[in-house]
Amino acid sequence: MTNDRKYKFSWELLGDIAAGRPNLGNKTSLEVYRLLLFTFRDVLETHVGTEMTDKIFHEAGYLSGKEFYANKLTPTKDLGDFVRELQQVLKDMGIGILRLEQADVETGEFVLTISEDLDCSGLPELDHEICVYDEGFIAALLESFSGIKFKVKEIDCWCTGDRTCRFSAKAVKAEA
Ligand SMILES: [Zn+2]
Repeated sequence: MTNDRKYKFSWELLGDIAAGRPNLGNKTSLEVYRLLLFTFRDVLETHVGTEMTDKIFHEAGYLSGKEFYANKLTPTKDLGDFVRELQQVLKDMGIGILRLEQADVETGEFVLTISEDLDCSGLPELDHEICVYDEGFIAALLESFSGIKFKVKEIDCWCTGDRTCRFSAKAVKAEA
């Protein structure tokens, strides 16, 4: 089954947008993006349940982060350079405004925020954080940069009453 995949992702699948959309270009309405996201999440939940839906979104975000790092960022060992370029690309692509609030390189613990986040800013308040996709995305970016696995959890979200999404990221220590 695994060598017989129909939908395996590759960056080329995103297509030649300049050729394909000479008039409309590389832009769409954010409502359309959210329509896709939230209808997917709804239908997935009815088929596989909430927990598996979150797992799928997390994994998709992770795959996205891996591909994004490989295709959009310049490999570097310098945390400052990495964060600066990431901030610029996220802003240029209209994904969000990234800030690194806390960084402890020794322990591998970071707190970062994404304001005006693509997925959730402006949504009605809910009783839970919803940026599971972003958690996977950020984990993959940090892992691609550092070579270390990270566990990322959203701790504040627009949907829980904050005006930014805040994520804690912790390096996963190798088991002894
Ligand atoms: Zn959020």
